Amino acid sequence: MSRRGSLVKREAIVQRLRSRGRALFDDPPPSLRFSDGVTRFTRELRRYPHAFVFACIFDRQVPSQRSEQATLELARRLGVFSFPALARLTKKRLRAAMTRPTKLHRFHGDMTVNIYEAIRLIESKYAGDAARIWNDSPSAAQLVARFREFRGMGPKLANVAATILARDFHIGLRDLSGIDVSPDVHVGRALWRLGLLPRDASADQVIRRGRQMNPSFPGLLDLPLWEVGQSWCHPAEPECAACYMRDVCPSAPKARSRFTSEFHFHHS
Ligand code: SF4
Repeated sequence: MSRRGSLVKREAIVQRLRSRGRALFDDPPPSLRFSDGVTRFTRELRRYPHAFVFACIFDRQVPSQRSEQATLELARRLGVFSFPALARLTKKRLRAAMTRPTKLHRFHGDMTVNIYEAIRLIESKYAGDAARIWNDSPSAAQLVARFREFRGMGPKLANVAATILARDFHIGLRDLSGIDVSPDVHVGRALWRLGLLPRDASADQVIRRGRQMNPSFPGLLDLPLWEVGQSWCHPAEPECAACYMRDVCPSAPKARSRFTSEFHFHHS
């Protein structure tokens, strides 16, 4: 294929990802939303804004619904959840709630420290009101930087937290260019199969490619790439027939063009 041909093809891939990203951002399917109980809980951002922060901190190597349930269960075990009551908790009391009657999280020891330190940071920097992390219309870059100050919140969690606030809670952010694609294993594999990155691309390469593809809001491409990688683009035997990228994907079987109209993608 000529250089121009491959550029046109690449642009078609990026456009498809942008369209799907916009659809997922504007109307996320139930599977991407917070679970019912937690949605009701965290939706009360005015009353329990710290619940959102805790759920994000718990979201490490567990399904996201488990992290949300851990937040609910912590509140239930403690019997109190107002911030003034949490600020009075000792680390010993918090550790007991994290471990009895069962371990609340697979990294319960680390999570005890993370939650305890989160309470301290919310107390000292945000006057006990976690909503101050996001309610002054920060830029996305500022918001991500604020989340990264919490112990245990790496770049991936901080970007996801900012995206959820913008997408699900409609928190106004001045500039979305600071939310990046998460260098997730599914995202990396999808980028490789789509011919957008080498097979063993680094996390930095994934982030840079996201910025090149959608500079105004790189994180918009995160969900479609994750969705493709997680749902169909398996490490072995990708299910190209079911994937909405198949008619533009260089790795899909050659016969794909015969099926393009039959399986036309309707979400964009
Ligand atoms: S068409 Fe196939 S190879 Fe290409 S991204 Fe989809 S599942 Fe992966």
